[in-house]
Amino acid sequence: MVSLYVEPAPAQAPTDCTTCGTCCFAAAGDAVRYVPVTGDDHARLGDRADDLVVFVGNKAGMRLEPSGACAALVIAPEGRFTCAVYADRPQTCRDLQRGGPACLGEIERKAHRPREALLSLRPSRGPAEGAGGRR
Ligand code: SF4
Ligand code: SF4
Repeated sequence: MVSLYVEPAPAQAPTDCTTCGTCCFAAAGDAVRYVPVTGDDHARLGDRADDLVVFVGNKAGMRLEPSGACAALVIAPEGRFTCAVYADRPQTCRDLQRGGPACLGEIERKAHRPREALLSLRPSRGPAEGAGGRR
């Protein structure tokens, strides 16, 4: 019997994080809080923390948008993902090295999330064009 199973290709990191954005999305089902925000992180964000940081009990984290994206993520419809607070982002974001094990794990688990967010930004086509597609 011939097996149709194809070993999935290992996750690979792109050369430019702004074409990816995966680690700025929570896994589906995560609650309102994402990347942890320490006291130092909060101080670095200054006034922007009021909008971007949420507390659950005594733990602070970056607020999530309904799309599952960190509230600081700016998504351009052509497919660019940038951080609005890049210079002052939380330490957890600073520590994630592109191409490292944590990055590859993010891509393995969640690369579909930025793609879905992009699709939701783009104008939908008419019913005839969309027939037979994923949505
Ligand atoms: S660190 Fe990795 S997961 Fe995060 S945006 Fe860059 S390539 Fe994507
Ligand atoms: S703070 Fe910036 S780098 Fe960190 S998860 Fe949010 S958008 Fe991404």
